[in-house]
Amino acid sequence: RAKAAGGTRYMIFDDVMHQQSMEILRLEADLRHAISRHELHISYQPIIRLDNGAIQGFEALVRWQHPERGEVKPRDFLPLAEETELIQQIDMWVLRSACADLRHWHEAGHTTLGISVNLSARNFQNMRLVEQIQAIILEAGVPAKSIQLEITERAIMTDTERTISTLEQLSDLGIHIAIDDFGTNYSSLAFLKRLPANSVKIDRSFVNDISTSIDAATLTSAIIAMGHVLGLKIIAEGVEQSEQQEFLSNHGCDLAQGNLFSLPIRANQVTNLLASGWQSESVAL
Ligand code: C2E
Ligand code: MG
Ligand code: MG
Ligand code: MG
Repeated sequence: RAKAAGGTRYMIFDDVMHQQSMEILRLEADLRHAISRHELHISYQPIIRLDNGAIQGFEALVRWQHPERGEVKPRDFLPLAEETELIQQIDMWVLRSACADLRHWHEAGHTTLGISVNLSARNFQNMRLVEQIQAIILEAGVPAKSIQLEITERAIMTDTERTISTLEQLSDLGIHIAIDDFGTNYSSLAFLKRLPANSVKIDRSFVNDISTSIDAATLTSAIIAMGHVLGLKIIAEGVEQSEQQEFLSNHGCDLAQGNLFSLPIRANQVTNLLASGWQSESVAL
């Protein structure tokens, strides 16, 4: 009897598993057409200077508007893309589109503005990555120094020597390199010293706990201080409360992004925001 019940349970479990994998296969098949069907767009989140509140640039965050499912979250489709070479197409599409938008904003007079684009680990398996990125930037006609690429420590751990050498080539072009989600993985400062990085992004999980956990506060201020010793700019992610902003400001953090300042917004809203004068006037901090 118990055996029969167990058998039934397995059958139900198998069935759920089967449906889930069918679901994933379907989503992946749809994702293959997302670029050509114009279902992807970018949301831009402002990156704010903590000393004067000016917008220094925007992080480009990919969005997928599925014809039937509506908006699919990056955490639900990027892992699928990362299993295949699809992620390279997506990341290069984001870079190309963000460069075109940036060109537009530079032409409108906001010439100091930069964009920050996420680069998945898999891109470093592409032997022509540097060449392709250079071509995209040249074609868009934006200065390399206004482009920042965000790479996680985890991505660098996959094939450390090759990835560092690729990052050095990108850095030689004048492109800025940021280490994303810092603090979540290996976070060795000795390791950080070996990277041709310009900035470090403190992960949201630390920023979140700044005002409630002494550990998070201590770690955050240590990352800021030691990052500065290495000559890096520090960017805090996921700032939601003014107490967090105050703490970061008081500890010399250079830049911040988060819902306290602005949710990610569409390109046309960025254009309006810039026209309203936020960048030059600075928000009340
Ligand atoms: P990330 O690079 O660490 O990006 C920051 C994430 O935090 C974004 O989530 C952003 O919307 C969210 N965020 C920003 N401020 C706040 C806040 O105050 N509170 C909260 N709760 N969240 C905040 P999103 O857009 O869902 O992206 C998730 C991750 O997906 C990104 O983390 C990045 O790793 C990846 N991603 C997004 N776009 C791309 C892309 O074009 N290419 C690649 N390779 N990865 C991307
Ligand atoms: Mg990022
Ligand atoms: Mg991040
Ligand atoms: Mg993060």
